[in-house]
Amino acid sequence: MIKDREKHTVGLVAIGRIPEMVLKVISGHILGYLNLPTCCLPAQGLPQACLDEKRLQYDAGKIIQHLESCAFADCTKILGLVEADLFVPIFTHVLGEAQQGGDHAVISLSRLQYRNNGTRSSEAEFYERSAKVALHELGHLFNLFHCRDSHCLMHFSGTIETLDAIELNYCPACRNFLDGPRRPALASIGPDG
Ligand SMILES: [Zn+2]
Ligand SMILES: [Zn+2]
Repeated sequence: MIKDREKHTVGLVAIGRIPEMVLKVISGHILGYLNLPTCCLPAQGLPQACLDEKRLQYDAGKIIQHLESCAFADCTKILGLVEADLFVPIFTHVLGEAQQGGDHAVISLSRLQYRNNGTRSSEAEFYERSAKVALHELGHLFNLFHCRDSHCLMHFSGTIETLDAIELNYCPACRNFLDGPRRPALASIGPDG
């Protein structure tokens, strides 16, 4: 487990209407998979300055900047959960975005509630996907990069299909990295899924 875990508390910020059960599920997975405590920070509305009015999506990078500008006491890593769809300029959408080796990440729940054919997913599918995207972005905050193992949580996934194909677990190499002394933070890897 993460060596300096006692230094980290993950703050969860609901941005928009986020079901309380999702917060609980993500919190439980962060404790179970990373052995880190979480705290639920005050919920926020969607920051309209982050809305791209042409795309009618929210800019993931701007949401991260917005989270950086908020002073969250007692939390060293911040995960924003957004009800709306997110994008970065070169992608049609992203499921999440994180500062590589940094402190702020964001995930969108918008697409996690639907199957490829547009029908609504079960709650169990929705919760599992939410946990996967959250643990993936937190992996980036702890400086894990994308993994070639197509079953690993750190494998890049930009769609529901690929997200469903990965397992709800880090591969042994990524797990070893999380358990060992971590590399110093490197430059951001940019757009993410
Ligand atoms: Zn891996
Ligand atoms: Zn990623």
